[in-house]
Formats: sequence, C-alpha cells, structure tokens
Amino acid sequence: MIATIIDGRAVAARVRAEVARAVEDLVSESGRRPGLATILVGDDPASEIYVRGKRRSSEEVGIADHHRHLPATASQADVAELIEACNGDPEVSGILLQLPVPEGLDGSSLTAQILPEKDVDGLTPVSAGRVLQNLTGLRPCTPLGVLELLDTYGVSLEGAHAVVVGRSNLVGRPLGPMLMHRNATVTMCHSRTADLAAECARADVLVAAAGVPRLLGAAYVKPGAAVIDVGINRTEEGLVGDVDFGPVSDRAGLITPVPGGVGPMTLAMLLQNTVAAARAQFDREREH
Ligand code: NDP
Repeated sequence: MIATIIDGRAVAARVRAEVARAVEDLVSESGRRPGLATILVGDDPASEIYVRGKRRSSEEVGIADHHRHLPATASQADVAELIEACNGDPEVSGILLQLPVPEGLDGSSLTAQILPEKDVDGLTPVSAGRVLQNLTGLRPCTPLGVLELLDTYGVSLEGAHAVVVGRSNLVGRPLGPMLMHRNATVTMCHSRTADLAAECARADVLVAAAGVPRLLGAAYVKPGAAVIDVGINRTEEGLVGDVDFGPVSDRAGLITPVPGGVGPMTLAMLLQNTVAAARAQFDREREH
C-alpha cells in the first residue's frame, strides 16, 4: 500500500463543525435559524433511512427540521402544492425532494419546481445551468464533496488532467464543469467510451461514479494519481466502490475508501448548502 487514504469521515466532521458555527453566527445576526424541508413521498424503506439521516445531521448542526411526509397515494399536484408552500415559506431555507418518488409521479418536473435559491441538492435545471456557466448558485452535494476532499488533501487541479467516469445529473455531469472551472482539463467517460482503461490511465485526478463494483482496476490508474471513488455498490461481500481498492491503493498517490470516503461528504455538503442558502436569503432581504 503506497497511497494515502483520504479520511472522508474526518473531513466531513470538520465541515459539519464549520456549518454549526455558521448557523449560530447567522442566528445571532439575523434572529432566524436556517431550516431544511426534506420532502418524502411514500414509504420506500431506503428513502426513509436517507431522509432520517439528513434530518438528524441537520439538527445536530442547529438547522431547523421542516420535514414533510406525503403518502404514496399523493398526486403530482399534491407534491407540487407542497413544494410551492415550501418555496414561499420564509422559515424554509432549503428544500430537498427525496428521489426516487413513487411510480406515477414525475420526479424531474417536481424537482424543477424548487426555487433555485432553495435548491440545496443543486439538481434543478436552473442550478445545472449555473454550474455550466460558472454563475453563483447552489451546487450538487456529491461533486462539492469531491472537490472538498481534493482541496483538503492539497491536490492541485490547475492544469491537471481529470477524468470523470459517469455522466449522471447527480454526480458526473455537474462535476465535469466544476473541475474545468478550477482549470483542470476534463475528460468525461461513460458506458460508450471506447477505451476506458486508456482514458483513465492518463488521469492525474480520477473520479469514479459509474455504479459498477470494482470497475477500475490498477491498469486504469496512473502511478501517483488521486483516485476518488464515488461508487457505493451493495455486493455479497458488503459495500464496495467502483474502484478495486486493494490493487489500486498500491499504485495511486491518494485514494478514498468505500465506505468512509465520499459518502459522508455528500451529507456534510447538504448542510453547508442549507446554511449558505439561508445566508444568501438573509443578505438579499437586508439589501431590500
Ligand atoms: P447512474 O446510474 O445515474 O449513472 C451511472 C453513470 O456511469 C452513467 O453515466 C453511465 O454511463 C456510467 N457507466 C455505467 N457503467 C459504466 C461502465 N461500465 N463504464 C463506464 N461508464 C459506465 O449513477 P449515479 O451517478 O447516480 O451513481 C453512481 C454511483 O455513485 C452509484 O454507485 C451510486 O450509489 C453512487 N453514489 C454515491 C454517492 C455518495 O454520496 N457517495 C452519491 C450519489 C451516488 P451512460 O450515461 O452511458 O449510461
């Protein structure tokens, strides 16, 4: 093993402590506590666990819980009405619609209805456009977490060759431009990439977000590269990433483990986005 193991739990704990301080600063300045509305539709057990974790972590840093739960029988109009109510509620700084929504509902169009200023998941088309044009706005949590890890461990992106495997709206698609805005030269790979190994082997910074267990082995990694594994795959051997951790850690310079790498960062960045949204809303009100 030659790679330094990136400790996502420690970095996430530091971010959460910073968020807790930012929350109290905002409360003492504005008299208003940032609030997060998690919206859960239906009773999907995995979604319930995710939402519970987000609510608990928010409360731990002093963010007020405005959770809303609608039954699986809720119509598109019911959910839309709830999102509108949250958009208009000054106590709600951030809105998170837990995906996937039950069959029969259109999650994309519901997400698009979230006010960009409250879009703490960074998944609305407006937020996506702001990422592309490098305009101020809320960024998706997982790509933010990836950048935070790279920055914390002093990985320079300036002029670096970054390769992102995966082009989902959640991870790869926004992360590509975010790396480019930091002056990396970015290659985006996906399931139709002709020679994935050759593309990856040129990366100074390699980010795997494909959702395929151990897709990237040692031959995919340039010696000394920073390897960030976003993948979380449930297998018979337990949770594994998209990177074949053992062999790759003998070759990479830095590597994230799974679990304990990117996972904790996604949640920490959601909290950071929520306090940032509350701060921006307060600053706007003060200007008027
Ligand atoms: P999606 O399934 O939405 O996207 C997967 C992407 O990977 C697609 O762009 C797909 O290409 C590409 N891909 C799939 N197979 C291959 C392959 N064999 N070679 C190259 N590219 C491939 O997944 P998500 O982005 O939502 O999630 C990816 C992984 O990250 C999952 O394991 C998920 O659990 C995890 N995840 C972890 C998070 C965390 O906090 N750590 C947060 C979010 C996700 P194409 O577009 O051509 O189909």
